[in-house]
Amino acid sequence: MARSVLVTGGNRGIGLAIARELARAGDSVAVTYRSGEPPEGFLAVRCDVTSAADVDEAFGKVEAEQGPVEVLVANAGITRDTLLPLMKEDAFTDVIDANLTGAYRVVKRATRGMLRLKRGRVVLISSVVAMLGSAGQTNYAASKAGMIGFARSAARELGSRGITVNVVAPGFVETDMTAALEEAHQEQIRKNIPLGRYASADEVARVVRFLASEDAAYITGAVIPVDGGLGMGH
Ligand code: NDP
Repeated sequence: MARSVLVTGGNRGIGLAIARELARAGDSVAVTYRSGEPPEGFLAVRCDVTSAADVDEAFGKVEAEQGPVEVLVANAGITRDTLLPLMKEDAFTDVIDANLTGAYRVVKRATRGMLRLKRGRVVLISSVVAMLGSAGQTNYAASKAGMIGFARSAARELGSRGITVNVVAPGFVETDMTAALEEAHQEQIRKNIPLGRYASADEVARVVRFLASEDAAYITGAVIPVDGGLGMGH
């Protein structure tokens, strides 16, 4: 039977690629979108992950349409890059609220159904900068590193109930988020990547598909890099 999947921030970029990949693998896939138009071909529910009420409502709609969420991909995320001495407090707290507390909100809500089902797959999209650090991204790196501690703790809590919790740590991926970087900066980044290029969103999506699959049944609390070697050793 098709599993009920929910991907947050699934209207574009990495989230949309993950939604497409899991749908191709035969799952019933719902996505959340926040702004803009919902993507075609999926059950799309409006949701801002900074609102617990939005998250609850979105899960309610998904559960009513395709059953309790068995695979959750916490992908929604933002950047607000600034060097630390210039970073206003709201740039720090907004990024933590969307990326880290947002992941807490959706994973917590998903456990309700997964604990009843006694199975589930949670995949959180972190970043190579969680381990490497990144100038101008103290807020973002803190949020992405926090996701790892969160995921590993949840993996310990939920493992005995048949629920795995894993983290994917992409390097630089061709999406709107990286397109916003200046070309000279992008060139500098490419020079530091052993594979010499950015990832496509599909290359991240295929790893998420594996972690959500039966083949990954014995993997939990893992941080899987998909970064062309950029973060190796961490
Ligand atoms: P995009 O900027 O292309 O897309 C971000 C997605 O997250 C959008 O769907 C956006 O919705 C959604 N989103 C943002 N904030 C919220 C919110 N508060 N509530 C609900 N949805 C929200 O990013 P990417 O596809 O590049 O990134 C996806 C994830 O991968 C992020 O967590 C990012 O940090 C991570 N990542 C990306 C890398 C990269 O190189 N691109 C590298 C490493 C990690 P909307 O369309 O409404 O804005």
